[in-house]
Amino acid sequence: MRLSFCPLASGSSGNSVFLGTKETKILIDAGLSGKKISENLSKKGIDCKDVDAIFITHEHNDHIKGAGILSRRYNIPIYATPGTWDGMKNELGDISPQNIKYVYAEENCVINDICLKPFLIPHDANEPVAYNIFLVNLKATVATDMGHITKPILEKLKDSNILLLEANHDTKMLKEGPYPFYLKERILGKFGHISNVVAGKVLREIFNEKLAHVYLGHLSEQNNSPKLAFDTVKYILEDEGIIVGRDINIEMANRYDASTKIEV
Ligand SMILES: [Zn+2]
Ligand SMILES: [Zn+2]
Repeated sequence: MRLSFCPLASGSSGNSVFLGTKETKILIDAGLSGKKISENLSKKGIDCKDVDAIFITHEHNDHIKGAGILSRRYNIPIYATPGTWDGMKNELGDISPQNIKYVYAEENCVINDICLKPFLIPHDANEPVAYNIFLVNLKATVATDMGHITKPILEKLKDSNILLLEANHDTKMLKEGPYPFYLKERILGKFGHISNVVAGKVLREIFNEKLAHVYLGHLSEQNNSPKLAFDTVKYILEDEGIIVGRDINIEMANRYDASTKIEV
């Protein structure tokens, strides 16, 4: 059985990831307009009306913007933690009761042949989660919007075959950049976002032969660049003898457009 995985957009301006099999099509987050999500999906040969479920990580607008529209237009159920539902129910517009679905951290949620298991992450939202996705012996993980990395989170990331990992900012750029003080404090804080260096250290820590493909995503537009994020992570890995392109593939997830679709 094969699993397809494709970030449809990634960054503070909107996040959504497609993953699917022959039988099942899933979005994790829908933080762009419904129109843009369906356009980016169709560029990869996927029809939005075939999407079986939308899973939400947390209620920030860059993760939910198009969820309500897509749910109404294509009758798609939305899955989120109780806290996330509390945080987003006034933002989504009317969702028909049968499309309001709950997930709980550490509990499996099965959609046909795919199993999703959310886990809690430290971020300034109601009950934010990242997702492990399982298909037979394959594991994919979508993990962004994390203020810091704990040991339990490292365990969740380990043994992924595909990983979308946040590399939000370059700390120096952020500190010296134009953001107001409170925003810098928020991003750098324990419930904000992780930096390029932290992303590199995470990959160094969890690297094994299973980890074939990594997307770095959720980059800050002001405080990072794709080249800087890639080079920082590459340097940290190569310092440990892990050669990018030989031992591991690393790709920058596109900010506005769909990235390469991976099949494993
Ligand atoms: Zn967020
Ligand atoms: Zn976000």
